[in-house]
Amino acid sequence: MKCPAAIADGAGSFTLDEIEVALPLAGEVLVELKAAGICHTDHASLSWQRPLVMGHEGAGVVRAVGVGVTRVQAGDRVVLNWAIPCGGCFQCQRGQAVLCESSRPAHVLQPSAGHAHAAGTQWRGRPVDRSFNLGTLAGLALVRAAAVTPIPPGVPFTSACIVGCGVMTGFGSAVNVARVQPGESVVVIGCGGVGLNVIQGARLAGAGRIIAVDLRAGSLANARRFGATDTLLAEPEDRELQAVALEVKRLTAGRGADYAFEATSVPHLAFTPLLLVRDGGMALQVSGINDPVTVAMPWFMWNKTYVTPLYGGCVPERDFPRIFDHYMRGELWLDELVTRTYPLARLGEAMEDMMAGRNAKGVIVFE
Ligand SMILES: [Zn+2]
Ligand SMILES: [Zn+2]
Repeated sequence: MKCPAAIADGAGSFTLDEIEVALPLAGEVLVELKAAGICHTDHASLSWQRPLVMGHEGAGVVRAVGVGVTRVQAGDRVVLNWAIPCGGCFQCQRGQAVLCESSRPAHVLQPSAGHAHAAGTQWRGRPVDRSFNLGTLAGLALVRAAAVTPIPPGVPFTSACIVGCGVMTGFGSAVNVARVQPGESVVVIGCGGVGLNVIQGARLAGAGRIIAVDLRAGSLANARRFGATDTLLAEPEDRELQAVALEVKRLTAGRGADYAFEATSVPHLAFTPLLLVRDGGMALQVSGINDPVTVAMPWFMWNKTYVTPLYGGCVPERDFPRIFDHYMRGELWLDELVTRTYPLARLGEAMEDMMAGRNAKGVIVFE
């Protein structure tokens, strides 16, 4: 079947073109996308040195299922998860589905050590990979069945799709990885799409104090709506957040917070959460910084933990229903995170708005 898609060229840009998608084999699902969120990783994926069907956040309707698929059927509304567990490997067996050792695309039957192209999707007559084995910035996604989870009635596609990455990453980092306990204190640096969901997760975990830090007063006002109890406006020249650290101490009995989360994607802030937590506290870098950065070792003193949580420790069948339940009860906001929607034809503009920080979340809608 043919459908429109955004294809990264591997050298920093993308084109909109038609792709050809096969019907699902055993254990696979064909999803017609209705909405796809975009995040900074999609911008990074433009430069991954090979053509790629873009996108890793999406929601839509199951069009067909392969033999042996029982978790969904044609017509079901589903959200996609970008870490696609196999269920059987060492990490999956330990309940660490995000660290699955044999995640693979549809139409590749044997995990291989080399780079296996998934022949299920073709572009210009050749097999093309799909970003995170999903490729949600396309009319159709051919994926393994473990990549889809049903969406309950009443959740719009535009709100459901962002659960697949940004919401899960923020919420799960607070709830699954840090395991914030009632009454504990939390700092969140950066109040964009991921940071707001750390705040929501911390609030739902019963955190006593949730201190939001950002350079923009508008972002802080928004953070308060999502559950921050205190806000600190950072100054651009306070590069190591020394002034912020003093304020955090003042708000936490002179000790520092129990947890501090970095959600800015700004490389020089990668280790600053260490300065905001108490001795024995936990610093979490959730924005996926890849650039080389240096850190003064005393920042780890004493007994501080530094974690780079992947995908909020996502176990889709456990976490997505939990997030949707919170949403249905009005306890976790999704609609309010979607600042703007765009048709696929205006993906370029959506990417520009994201890079300029104009949206909490931009979402592509498929008509
Ligand atoms: Zn596995
Ligand atoms: Zn993402």
